[in-house]
Amino acid sequence: MKIICIGRNYADHAKEMNAEAPSEPMFFMKSDIALLRPGTPFFYPNFSKDIHYECEIVVKIDRVGKNIAEKFAHKYYSEIGLGIDFTARDLQQKCKEKGHPWEIAKSFEGSAAISGQFIDKSKLDLASIQFSMTQNTEEVQNGNSSDMLFSIDAIISYISQFMTLKKGDLIYTGTPKGVGPVQIGDELIGFIGDTKMFELKIK
Ligand code: MG
Repeated sequence: MKIICIGRNYADHAKEMNAEAPSEPMFFMKSDIALLRPGTPFFYPNFSKDIHYECEIVVKIDRVGKNIAEKFAHKYYSEIGLGIDFTARDLQQKCKEKGHPWEIAKSFEGSAAISGQFIDKSKLDLASIQFSMTQNTEEVQNGNSSDMLFSIDAIISYISQFMTLKKGDLIYTGTPKGVGPVQIGDELIGFIGDTKMFELKIK
């Protein structure tokens, strides 16, 4: 399975990163060993001193597709989850400065946390999915899919021009503003609407 992540899909997050909002979807990938299984703690890695959370809506692909037209993209997924795109911000900054690839900052083991449950998309208004995350009971992120620069269907259509999407692939659709560092001992809880999607300890 592939883990595909969209970068800068919310203007307010691009702004907080001092980055320009992209004119086309921008994506990168994490390897399968980046997936942090539900119920598993996140172990703070030795190679970074600045691990950030990025809470994101996650789409699970459930049908093989290539060159998918945007108007048919809805046929390729039926469930929506929530995850965290963990980022070693200090390493990412160095990679950016040197023009190097991002893998060490984005694709390390355990860097893609995923909710245990997914919600059937028929139960959601996809154009307005409200989601949030608390860090030790304080709300740190609160976003809505209506603020995405590129919709889920536009993202699927775009990615599928470059690579065949397969059943089980996960697409992390980008984070809204409010990203920040985690510390050992933190507890992160993610919600879609009022539904608790994940509960994650940093160890
Ligand atoms: Mg992200």
